[in-house]
Amino acid sequence: MAASMRTCVLNDLRLLRKSILCNPVQSYSMSRCIHLPQIGGRQCQVPIYQVSRPRQWTGQRSFVTTASLLSTEPETIQGEVIEEEVKEEDTYHSIIKDTERSTGPGDKLEFQAETRKLLDIVARSLYSEKEVFIRELISNSSDALEKMRYMEMSGKAEGDPTIPLEIHLAADDAKKTFTIQDTGIGLTKEEMIENLGTIARSGSKAFLESMSESQSGVNSNIIGQFGVGFYSSFMVADKVEVYSRSHQPDSVGHKWTSDGTGSFEIAEAEGVQRGTKIVLHLKGDCYNFADEEVIKEVVKKYSNFVGVPIFLNGKKANVVQALWLMEQKDITADMHEEFYRYIGNVYDKPRYHLHYKADAPVNIRALFYVPEYKPTLFDMSRETDVSVTLYSRKVMIMSRASYILPRWLRFLKGVVDSEDIPLNLSRELLQDSSLIRKLRQVLTSRVLRFFQDCAKKDQASYSAFYDDYGLFFREGIVTEHDQETREEIAKLLRFESSKSAKGERISMDEYASRMKAGAREIYFLSAPNRELAEQSPYLEALQARDVEVLFLYEPYDELVLMNLGQYDKKFFKSIENEMTNDAADTDAVDESDEKSMNQEDVNDLKAWLQGVLGNKVTKVKITKKLVSHPCVITVPEMGSVRHFLRTTLADKSEEERYRVLHATLEINPSHPLIKKVHDLQKNNTDLGRLVAEQLFDNAMIIMLGLMDDPRTMVGACQ
Ligand code: ADP
Repeated sequence: MAASMRTCVLNDLRLLRKSILCNPVQSYSMSRCIHLPQIGGRQCQVPIYQVSRPRQWTGQRSFVTTASLLSTEPETIQGEVIEEEVKEEDTYHSIIKDTERSTGPGDKLEFQAETRKLLDIVARSLYSEKEVFIRELISNSSDALEKMRYMEMSGKAEGDPTIPLEIHLAADDAKKTFTIQDTGIGLTKEEMIENLGTIARSGSKAFLESMSESQSGVNSNIIGQFGVGFYSSFMVADKVEVYSRSHQPDSVGHKWTSDGTGSFEIAEAEGVQRGTKIVLHLKGDCYNFADEEVIKEVVKKYSNFVGVPIFLNGKKANVVQALWLMEQKDITADMHEEFYRYIGNVYDKPRYHLHYKADAPVNIRALFYVPEYKPTLFDMSRETDVSVTLYSRKVMIMSRASYILPRWLRFLKGVVDSEDIPLNLSRELLQDSSLIRKLRQVLTSRVLRFFQDCAKKDQASYSAFYDDYGLFFREGIVTEHDQETREEIAKLLRFESSKSAKGERISMDEYASRMKAGAREIYFLSAPNRELAEQSPYLEALQARDVEVLFLYEPYDELVLMNLGQYDKKFFKSIENEMTNDAADTDAVDESDEKSMNQEDVNDLKAWLQGVLGNKVTKVKITKKLVSHPCVITVPEMGSVRHFLRTTLADKSEEERYRVLHATLEINPSHPLIKKVHDLQKNNTDLGRLVAEQLFDNAMIIMLGLMDDPRTMVGACQ
């Protein structure tokens, strides 16, 4: 290393020391030992630490400083800081040494039954992308290092500043081993038993559950999707050794060994550095993971953005970059893609990304992604965690920070960094923190505005996104308490309508813009599909008034709109209810209609029908609003009743259900079927009774929306 030497004044040293401590994303790696002439007035040998910068700075000046800068008070140092040009790739640096030895006999322990099951599945797996084990182990090491960093920064643990926070990998082609070592918080003996012998993580649990549900074997993408953590090592290794020494004062090292079958062994060990070292003895068909080039590619694919430096066989293998703090213009689509894959633990691309910076009312640097893939059942589950990691000045406070976004936004993957969060705020307290509430509020409204913009900018891609993720918005409306937020979410809803073309969906604002002056109601109709909506007797009844009606094809949409209640001071109204409330629709025949039965006959038929149907109907009345339909059922508050019937009342007796229903049968006195029933009433009462009951049942089916296509049995009889 050619170095231009310069003597540093005290202030520079202090500044440098501060900069090192405040910029944990940079790497500090020990490159070699040299003699420095004057440290603390003494001639001594100290290791040199290279402070390397993100890759785009390679070639620029990098500091090389000494360990003692970090450990000694600057005032006592009279050393030298060397500046020089450094090429990262040139510098060999590894902490992996062969010093660990077990001392004495070990304890043999059994794996927990659940773990055995998981191990068995993993070991037999035909999963083609076995390489994910590298991502899983790196992710564990990175967590252990982030925890160490957090403890050091918040003063919760006395860290050793001479130990750099790093991950080292070694691919040894001769020994057919793969080794990963970190300088993180490490594990005590008890933690080894607890954490490596039982299944703690929700991902592994979900994996096991889905395995037992699907019975589909493990050659699917399922392992990659859930990530089975540490246990994934057994996909490629027939023996795994873990050496670990906890960061806690006076900890001793331990060695954990297992062949991944029924049991593992733990023994005390010497020569163990702080942190964890895992040695995988590869299976015969997995020797490729002892090849440096193979590992290099895998690291690049999944772990390029890990917040700590990764070294592979002594050479730097990843880019350490806090993307969310960079300028938007400096981030390329490829960088977004890679970063998204890394933080989301996924393999696809993001379909949208939102990079958001704010300094007031709170400091926020946020980067969110929406996956390209359709959400799986696991993603949909309310149990699934929010996949956003919370940082404060690049120090990770919490992965899966559930309070930072409302649960209905759990499909977003990303990072939130806020300088306002004090590092020593305990993780438990985060939940109740008013600052976190503020962050959540600001982020939620920013995310909503973002999706509203997406919808405006490119309707086609928004529509595809809405098909896949629209359900989360419905959940948002139902679960948010604040009406203003609910209405902001409602701006994102899209429905077909009686005035839109088939397949074309409109927004609430479009609907509102077409409302007649003074109108106060947004009408909707629940139907399984467009054809049935268009042929619905309820829609027919409203047609004369030329109002636009939203078509709701999912049963839950009706509930969502009822729950929302209003939008921009306009009230949602089911057109079925509108029919019940229409005072103009009196119970008298239209004398001018030649096809209509006369009033006397209708009164006679009504009384008879009431007798035939008994307590199934509260009332039988005439309607003049139907043309092609013989009759229709109306009930007060149709939407809620329908839901109630499908759920709470589903297993109650028929009589009880009709009592709750309060149904009115509205008959069309001009319809041939109604006239026929009247004929039969006079001439063939038994048959008349059967036809009347059938007509009633058919009308009920339409009302309840129970059949996908009730027309086949009802026959609209044009
Ligand atoms: P997860 O990481 O999701 O919790 P794993 O099965 O991969 O699940 O790991 C189980 C636990 O073992 C971790 O939660 C952690 O406590 C511990 N562990 C795994 N790897 C390390 C490591 N490199 N350093 C310290 N602890 C670790």
